Amino acid sequence: MVQSVGAKAGQGASPASGHEPREWTKVRERLRAEYGEGTFRSWFKLISFGDLRSGTMIFSVPTRFMRDWVKSNYADRILALLAAENPEIKAIDLVVGKVTPVPMQAPVPPPAPGRAAMPRPSAPAIRETAEPTAEPGPQNDRLDPATGLDARFTFQNFVVGKPNELAFHAARRVAESTTVPFNPLFLYGGVGLGKTHLMHAIAWAILERHPSRRVLYLSAEKFMYQFIRALRYKDTMAFKEQFRSVDVLMIDDVQFISGKDSTQEEFFHTFNALVDQNRQVVISADKSPSDLEGLEERLRSRLGWGLVADLHPTTYELRLGILQSKAENQGVRVPSKVLEFLAHKITSNVRELEGALTRIIAHATLVGREISLESTQELLQDLLRANDRRVTIEEIQKRVAEHFNIRVADMHSARRARAVARPRQVAMYLAKQLTQRSLPEIGRKFGGRDHTTVMHAVKKVEELRQIDRGFAESVELLRRMLET
Ligand code: ADP
Ligand code: MG
Repeated sequence: MVQSVGAKAGQGASPASGHEPREWTKVRERLRAEYGEGTFRSWFKLISFGDLRSGTMIFSVPTRFMRDWVKSNYADRILALLAAENPEIKAIDLVVGKVTPVPMQAPVPPPAPGRAAMPRPSAPAIRETAEPTAEPGPQNDRLDPATGLDARFTFQNFVVGKPNELAFHAARRVAESTTVPFNPLFLYGGVGLGKTHLMHAIAWAILERHPSRRVLYLSAEKFMYQFIRALRYKDTMAFKEQFRSVDVLMIDDVQFISGKDSTQEEFFHTFNALVDQNRQVVISADKSPSDLEGLEERLRSRLGWGLVADLHPTTYELRLGILQSKAENQGVRVPSKVLEFLAHKITSNVRELEGALTRIIAHATLVGREISLESTQELLQDLLRANDRRVTIEEIQKRVAEHFNIRVADMHSARRARAVARPRQVAMYLAKQLTQRSLPEIGRKFGGRDHTTVMHAVKKVEELRQIDRGFAESVELLRRMLET
């Protein structure tokens, strides 16, 4: 998971950690106990002490998003705990990047019973001066994952192709529009097709243009978790407040909310409140609103009111484009043969594709040898076998036949009635998508048909998917069933 990599490779010891004041050390442990290890690692661990000035304890955080998030969610609690430790602490502030320049030689005095930190004119400009150094960029991208916002997930890094162009342009509109173009924007699609990437990209783009806008991104699970916590601590007012005061709310993977009645209810109210105030809401899920199970009808229908944009499974061209762009971003020359091979072989999802590329690049860098097709094949043996093993043509034929309620034998037969020809075409299409068999090989498995027949089937299915939503959904369903 990207997040743990980031958390590990990220921040490291903060420059000021050696001089961390006792109250912060204690409060941090309290926070860990109160919010649990997961939340601790995602947020509090990355907050480092910066300075104490005129009763304001200043912390540094790696990103703007994190600053905003911590401010709106945890600042009150942090302050309350700190003040309990040391009543001289009257406020806290969060600054993006390093807090310059005092803390190193000025360890903070321990809390004294009388007056503590010498009142000094505060430095109102810290925030402005510190901010530019922390702009997300290629060097410090590893700092971000744990905040829930990955610095690599920008529009710039998103490769657009047929399967994702609607979702991409819709996301861009939301990010760039000064009004609310559609509410909500509902993005859906299978695993690893770029939903989260697009949502983060929206957040980045908005924060870049309007740093003061309050953009909240969180997974549905986190939303649920916080809600349940609020219930437990009888703090639902604050919970409502924090969500309802944002300009843009993005909730990822809402399929996880389904079935959880009280959370759904709260989500629905939050959602309505925001939409009524004309705030932008962006939602993602693995299915369209109408297919999300365990969702209350009114919520389901409300979710479909805005723009529903789906991300289709990747095509070979898109996969190749993504690989090229990733290789280029990493500044590594990978022979096009290798990229083509990968785009061809690893069809499951983009995450796996990226993983494969990272692996061969890492290997080449470590052993200092050029990347070749042979080394790639050797290195990725397990992955390729897993992709291969995933599904056979026979299995595809069986599943497709079942789905369309025809006999498996009809996959091989010469019958040309639409009722059997169409499913057969779907099976050919899926065989092309999900296996590494060549067109002639596929043709042979379908009663010895010619490779041009297979090609035609692939084209036909592709066309139908574009114009017939119901058809597209059956194909997608079959694909997913076969892949897992
Ligand atoms: P999802 O949320 O739909 O499961 P993600 O957004 O997490 O998928 O994407 C999985 C990985 O694939 C991420 O690393 C993302 O950057 C990458 N990815 C997906 N689609 C694209 C694309 N079109 N261009 C570049 N990278 C992509
Ligand atoms: Mg996701």
